[in-house]
Amino acid sequence: MVDAKAEPSAAAQDLATDYVRRGLDHLWVHNTNYLDLAKPGGMLVLSEGQGIRLKDVEGRTYIDAMSGLWVVNVGHGRKELAQVAAEQMSKLAYVNTFAYATPPAIDLATKLAEITPEGIERFFFVNSGSEAVETAIKMAQQWHYINGDKKRTKIISRRGSYHGATGMAMSVNGSNYANRSPFEPLSPNARFFPGINCYRCPYEKTYPECNVFCARTLDDLISFEQPETVAAVIAEPISVSNGNFVPWPAYWRTLRQVCDKHGVLLIADEVINGFGRSGKWFGVDHYGIQPDIMTTAKGLSSGYAPIACTMTTRKIADAFASDKKNTFSHGITFGTHPVSCAVALRNVEILEAEGLIDNSAKTGAYLLQQLSELQHRHPIIGDVRGIGLMIQVELVKDRETKEPFTREDDMQSKVGQRLLARGLLCRAGNSISIAPPLITNREDADEIVDIIDAVLGEVEQELSLW
Ligand code: PLP
Repeated sequence: MVDAKAEPSAAAQDLATDYVRRGLDHLWVHNTNYLDLAKPGGMLVLSEGQGIRLKDVEGRTYIDAMSGLWVVNVGHGRKELAQVAAEQMSKLAYVNTFAYATPPAIDLATKLAEITPEGIERFFFVNSGSEAVETAIKMAQQWHYINGDKKRTKIISRRGSYHGATGMAMSVNGSNYANRSPFEPLSPNARFFPGINCYRCPYEKTYPECNVFCARTLDDLISFEQPETVAAVIAEPISVSNGNFVPWPAYWRTLRQVCDKHGVLLIADEVINGFGRSGKWFGVDHYGIQPDIMTTAKGLSSGYAPIACTMTTRKIADAFASDKKNTFSHGITFGTHPVSCAVALRNVEILEAEGLIDNSAKTGAYLLQQLSELQHRHPIIGDVRGIGLMIQVELVKDRETKEPFTREDDMQSKVGQRLLARGLLCRAGNSISIAPPLITNREDADEIVDIIDAVLGEVEQELSLW
């Protein structure tokens, strides 16, 4: 039972006050404005986790309806993962990863070769999704370079997409222009084509009559850019940052065909999709297409250790082995960290042994249906979409016109703070993103839906929407 409203003891309140004071003085929280953190109740200090729930330092509990950031797939408080980490640290914490291999790294790579789509056989481990994307892009560019295609350096992504916070990964972000401006000029190698948005199609078309026109525009862009200058296309199989749209199979078939036609590599960014989030091991598994490179992170270790991986085919990897001068010019000190590899391997084994991929599909379908039913009661809901435990509820001012809320409407406070007060941690603003751990059951799903139901009722009343 959620008890976010339970009154904490005086000692717990003192402890929290002290943490917040020191946190505001010294800790730089990522991606959050200090003024928001400094508001009363603005800095939430979380100290414990068990299953799908988290506890703050005052003892209040919350449902972690975002698995952190689409990360904690096996749920919180898995002691066996802590034990695996402790054992590996005691045995061997680190070696020169630029030169040597370790048993956990080889064991993890072997296991990944079993569960990844056919053809994906080589695994380059790094520490974050951004690093995995940087690695994928450099891998694609150097692969073309080795093949004599030295002008193939451009990377195409989609408007609305997010691929990371570091240099090249940031350059291929099409998500939020405000986030790019302070750092411009970014890489001159980035190009964009429209993202998928069947709710508000930029071309005002409808599937199936559109015949995935948005995917077909890629052909035109590559032709315009001159194919001999394009290295790769990067896209999330199920596009979370673009609005949680689940593409039609024809969409991905088209992207694959267009890339093949022009000799361009296809990078599937599985940082969120991967490791069961979508109800299959990987997002591309829904489409039966073979990417040349895949980027993964988050669910690979469920957040129990920092690890990410750029995965590729033998065809790509073999080019780097064809001559000493073709060695991949890329290495990161903490990449392939033995402790992270050991933890990730056990995490993958848990996902498999407990049937969590299947649960993601089944509980996700139930949650999607329950949230969709809320539309009958709540005119503020414009659209509900997603797959597996990766769902988005889009809120609108007017369902007929699909008029979106604006920054001035401050839906982040109106919806987000109410959800928090009722013990639901998730991303909320113009949309509510729901992505709880893959251990979530129907009862948990009902609890999540009940909280959203109550909060939307209050917000509609405040906005006089009914
Ligand atoms: N790619 C995608 C699709 C992501 O969603 C993210 C982060 O959310 C990244 C890459 C970057 O991952 P990280 O934050 O681990 O660097």
